[in-house]
Parts: sequence; C-alpha cells; structure tokens
Amino acid sequence: MRLVLLGPPGVGKGTQASNIVKKYNIPHISTGDIFRANIKEGTKLGITAKGYMDKGLLVPDDLVVSIVNDRLAKDDCADGFLLDGYPRTVDQAEALDKELNEKGIKLDKVVYIDADKDILIERAIGRRICKQCGATYHVTNNPPKVEGVCDLDGGDLYQRDDDTVETVTTRIQVYLDQTQPLIDYYRKKGLLLDVDGTKPIEEVFSIIANSID
Ligand code: ADP
Ligand code: ADP
Repeated sequence: MRLVLLGPPGVGKGTQASNIVKKYNIPHISTGDIFRANIKEGTKLGITAKGYMDKGLLVPDDLVVSIVNDRLAKDDCADGFLLDGYPRTVDQAEALDKELNEKGIKLDKVVYIDADKDILIERAIGRRICKQCGATYHVTNNPPKVEGVCDLDGGDLYQRDDDTVETVTTRIQVYLDQTQPLIDYYRKKGLLLDVDGTKPIEEVFSIIANSID
C-alpha cells in the first residue's frame, strides 16, 4: 500500500498515520518528524530547517525532495509506505511522481483530511508530544492518563515550538497558498479520498480503513 496523507496543520494526519502504519505494516515517513529529529541532533539540515519551521514557513523544496527520495530508496519501502506531510507543494508532488515513475510504482491513494480553521488552531495549540517515542496527545481531546506523562513509555510530554497561535495561523495560510493546489492535482488523477477530520479520532480512522480495504 502506497499512501499520501494530505491536510492542513493540526487536522490529525500524524494521529491517523500511527494507526494506518500499524494496521498495514508499512513505514511512516513524516517530513516534519525527520526535521525535528535533525533539530534534536543538531545536524546542519536541522539548523537550516529550524529557521523556516519556527516562522511557520516551508523548508525549501530541494532539501525536502532529496530527503524523501533517499528515504524511499530504503528496503523497508519496497512494498509500501505512508507519506505524512509530503508532498506540500506542486513542485514536490511532481518530484514524487518522477521518483515513483522511475521506480515503476504508483500511489494507491491520497487521503485528504480537512477541518475548519478554528478546529485546527484548537488542536495544534493543545497538542502534546512524548519526548521519547513521539506519541501525540491533546490536552482535552486525547489526554494522557497522567498529565504531562506518556501512557506508552512514561516519557515527558512537550509542546512543539511552532504550536503557538501566531505560528499556526501562518502555517494555515502557507497551507492554503502552497499545499491546497494538491487537492485538485490528486483529484484529477482519481486518487483523492475526502475525509471529514472533524469526527472523533476512531471514527476518522474507520472511514480511512474502510476505504483502503
Ligand atoms: P497533524 O499531523 O495533521 O498536524 P496531529 O495528528 O498531530 O495533526 O493532531 C493534532 C492534535 O489534534 C493532536 O493533539 C491530536 O491529539 C489531536 N487530534 C487529532 N485528531 C483528532 C480528532 N479527530 N479529534 C480531536 N482531536 C484530534
Ligand atoms: P503540521 O502537520 O502540524 O503542519 P509537520 O510536522 O508536518 O506539521 O511540519 C512542521 C514544519 O516542518 C512545517 O511547518 C514546515 O516548516 C516543515 N515541513 C514539513 N514537511 C515539509 C514539506 N514537505 N515541505 C516543506 N516543509 C516541510
């Protein structure tokens, strides 16, 4: 299964991605997670990416495309993958098409999750992430059993630097300007699955899983 998850910041892509990759046993490729891991390790890529991410802007296409292409070349992607947060521009989508064509493979579906701006802001602001395993919670919608502590491994939960009202608002505008054109791009190819992201987490997952099965 070769899937792309498309949708505005905070809509629930990462949350659904964890469920999807478990069910279909495919690798989860999140460009945001790759950049955050590089920031944590203090790599050159991390330092460059942070400058854009803190402002809510996209990291330049050439950097993102080469990282994803390298990741797709790994053995674990041979039978499928889930791309989360990539592509995010038409240039990235064209680069992905080119890469997949060269490998003689095709995407099976582009899962497009959407919700209104006020929901996106509320979700992103309340998002909390485990420092150790990256599991995502929400202070009210999906709280951990003990405040500030991951249910899975007891790790401390943190808030992303870019999950402030100001930066999330910029990220939503960047999404509307640069990523929204991909909805038509993939709809024309007959790949798009429209999903109502306002529903509870489990319901969104059943809609996606029923359509993929
Ligand atoms: P994205 O990867 O699209 O930015 P996340 O999956 O990280 O979004 O979700 C953003 C926040 O919203 C998290 O705190 C998550 O727990 C919460 N969330 C995700 N899906 C839902 C949902 N369907 N209903 C309510 N809250 C949700
Ligand atoms: P969200 O789904 O909440 O927007 P992500 O974790 O997917 O968050 O992305 C966080 C930031 O990482 C983005 O605001 C952007 O700066 C950078 N980023 C992630 N993926 C891409 C991409 N495909 N192209 C350019 N920048 C990206």
